[in-house]
Amino acid sequence: NSLLSVRNVKKYYPLKSRGFSRRHGTVKAVDGVSFDVKAKEVFGLVGESGCGKSTLGRVLLRLDDPTGGQIFFQQQDISAFSKSRLTQFRKEAQIIYQDPYSALNPRKKIGQLVQEPLDIHRIGTVRDRRERAAWLLETVGLLPEHANRYPHQFSGGQRQRIIIARALALNPQLLLADEPVSALDVSIQAQVINLLLDLREEFSLTYIFISHDLKVVEHLCDRVAVMYLGRLVELAPKKPFYAHP
Ligand code: ADP
Ligand code: ADP
Repeated sequence: NSLLSVRNVKKYYPLKSRGFSRRHGTVKAVDGVSFDVKAKEVFGLVGESGCGKSTLGRVLLRLDDPTGGQIFFQQQDISAFSKSRLTQFRKEAQIIYQDPYSALNPRKKIGQLVQEPLDIHRIGTVRDRRERAAWLLETVGLLPEHANRYPHQFSGGQRQRIIIARALALNPQLLLADEPVSALDVSIQAQVINLLLDLREEFSLTYIFISHDLKVVEHLCDRVAVMYLGRLVELAPKKPFYAHP
């Protein structure tokens, strides 16, 4: 029973050579990729820089249109979503990125930042939203008084926690994490990965975890797909000795 089915997805970008405005061929950033992600699975997508991971991630969440192929979320073609279904999908599928420094508006308090998705989708009363934001911050390991501080008052690891809290505000089913620990100190990486694993249970999450670092992915993921030059070259369960208890 797949949450997400990816069928022969392609994303080509026009290639411009220097000095010409004319198009000279294409970059095949994603070149015919197929796989399925089961509900509650932690699916790893690894490969060297430039192999197409981020491009694929954006296409999977309909943040960018594919050049070809199809993506099914809960057996529904995401390119055929109605406006209201797309709004729903924007709640169900969230993305977090590598850089915890640019992802938070520096002028907003973190309580507000975590509450914002709830405000935008008008979930509950203002009081409900405020309480949920406080609970989310606590759940990712921050303190209630942190809600009134600004992003610059937090370390990289704390900011990534805030970003995770914000991504979870709407109770998504799918969290796509694009290099979520790559910008962090190695000593902090394990903490954030462990947090993501804990949240998997609390929120019944399905993860797609993008990384160039096979070590990071092996610890976290149920299955790992390896990308090379826009294609999936390997799809394997992780080694048994990394199995969850
Ligand atoms: P990864 O996430 O694995 O590092 P990307 O998806 O960022 O890889 O990039 C895959 C390929 O597509 C690279 O060759 C990159 O230069 C190219 N690419 C990515 N985004 C664009 C874009 N907006 N326009 C043109 N080429 C792009
Ligand atoms: P500012 O003073 O920066 O203009 P306010 O503090 O008045 O903003 O709050 C603006 C919004 O942020 C309101 O919707 C409020 O509910 C929310 N907010 C403020 N503080 C918190 C907090 N500690 N936790 C959750 N939400 C908060």
